[in-house]
Amino acid sequence: MEKRKLAKKIVSSLKKAYPDAPQSYLKFGNPFELLIATILSARTTDASVNKSTPALFARYPTPEKMASAKIEEITKLVLATGSYNRKAGYIIETARLIVENFGGEVPKTLDELVTLKGVSRKTANVVLSVAFNLSEGVVVDTHVMRVTVKLGLSEHVKKPKKIEKDLMDLIPKTLWNDYAKIVGMHGRRTCKSFRPKCPECRVNTVCPSAELL
Ligand code: SF4
Repeated sequence: MEKRKLAKKIVSSLKKAYPDAPQSYLKFGNPFELLIATILSARTTDASVNKSTPALFARYPTPEKMASAKIEEITKLVLATGSYNRKAGYIIETARLIVENFGGEVPKTLDELVTLKGVSRKTANVVLSVAFNLSEGVVVDTHVMRVTVKLGLSEHVKKPKKIEKDLMDLIPKTLWNDYAKIVGMHGRRTCKSFRPKCPECRVNTVCPSAELL
């Protein structure tokens, strides 16, 4: 099947399969909290971030307060997220840059977001799509990265920037946020990295990686 048609079919089928797919699995109350939680989520689970952030946000609820925090204090609060020294430095510096360069508000463009510390293109796409319902790209997290290749929509194994470009070429912009949401859930529930559940998969008739025996 031609790749654009394949992408359309996959989005349509998975939207029906996962009508309850959330935009994010992170706990947050405003764009600043989402940004900080997403920085902390690098190379760890959302569950471990969600364990740490309630106390972190209670103690440092604004960019101004977080910018003046002591690194040892933040480190203690984000221990469960791994790489805590580096992440603590990132979030203090990001808070400072938001205060100094963006008037205390999380910026709403990808170019501005990636000037913050520890903010990758993926993190910026998460904040744009989830906090502001905007899209300048496709969120390619670990699930989207794996499943997109299995579905034959990209050949770039473990290369998130190239996978994102392929998806932006194949899928209409109005569906970029939906794609990340439903394919992310498909990766969590069905197309798991260990033993994907191909026989019960809603797209197994079009997936080139389906193992149905
Ligand atoms: S058929 Fe199997 S490999 Fe393909 S998307 Fe479904 S679960 Fe993943």
